Amino acid sequence: MTDIIVIGGGPAGLTAAMYALRGGKSVMLFEKEAYGGQISKSANVENYPSVKSVSGFEFSMNLYNQAKAFGCEFRKERVTRVEDGEIKRVITSKDEYECKAVIFAVGATPRKSGLENEEELIGRGLSYCAHCDGNFFRKKDVAVIGGGSTALQDALYLSEICNRVYLVHRRNEFRGESTLAERVRAKENVEIIYDSTLEKAEGKPVLKSITVKNKVTLEERQLDVSGLFLAIGQEPATKEFSDILPLDEYGYVSCDEGCKIKEGIYVCGDCRRKALRQLTTAVADGSVAGSEA
Ligand code: NAP
Repeated sequence: MTDIIVIGGGPAGLTAAMYALRGGKSVMLFEKEAYGGQISKSANVENYPSVKSVSGFEFSMNLYNQAKAFGCEFRKERVTRVEDGEIKRVITSKDEYECKAVIFAVGATPRKSGLENEEELIGRGLSYCAHCDGNFFRKKDVAVIGGGSTALQDALYLSEICNRVYLVHRRNEFRGESTLAERVRAKENVEIIYDSTLEKAEGKPVLKSITVKNKVTLEERQLDVSGLFLAIGQEPATKEFSDILPLDEYGYVSCDEGCKIKEGIYVCGDCRRKALRQLTTAVADGSVAGSEA
């Protein structure tokens, strides 16, 4: 019997574990892939307060070692099911475990564009996070793909930093908030390219240009950009726990201010419904969930 089981070893989960351990509880943490989650793949983190610059990998390892030093027990297993009750049962690909509280920190993954060289270009011009990587493209030309609130917010954010921003959307009306769309339309250095899809991204080892195709006229246009921001949605890793988690229409988990869903069930990090998904907000959530649990 463990006091608290944390599902997910990203910044939110590792911070939740640390807070719970410091509160005198025993903690077991399950991670199916890499500790640190999405941030472990970021070349550079420059927006974590008081840390000028650190690689995502180093940040992740530091956090992992910190949780370990406090006594966290780690398991490299995939959790497939959680059963609620006074005693919670956590079922993994290998075994079954019992605990008094469960913290879901399962994260979300950015939707991929399907470009042939997508993986190759990550960190070499292609990014899924304007707030994390925008500053690397100061005074340069960049493109944002998507038509939701994230794409609109990204275009606004980048328009303050970059020389020119192309916002490429596959339809001729935005899915995102109309007030954001109005603000984007008013920006002189943002060009909106409607009805267009991303066909290819070129450049080796770093991105040099993208080609977009208008679905109506079938015309192709090459845009010389050094940054490509994909804002085509995220997929929270919550589907397999939909029996226990209250999900919104996008699959994000709703909770109260204390990151609580119900007695003994908590949620933190990117899988939670919230306004800003960042390293800072993930660790903030983790500390709340860890201490509340
Ligand atoms: P989203 O609302 O799902 O929008 C994704 C956008 O990407 C859509 O415009 C979609 O086009 C497009 N798209 C999807 N797959 C694509 C593909 N393969 N190729 C090209 N385009 C593709 O995602 P989101 O913008 O990340 O927002 C997620 C949630 O967070 C929403 O609830 C949103 O309101 C919320 N949010 C709120 C704020 C805020 O300030 N209030 C800020 C950010 C996010 P279609 O429109 O054609 O489907």
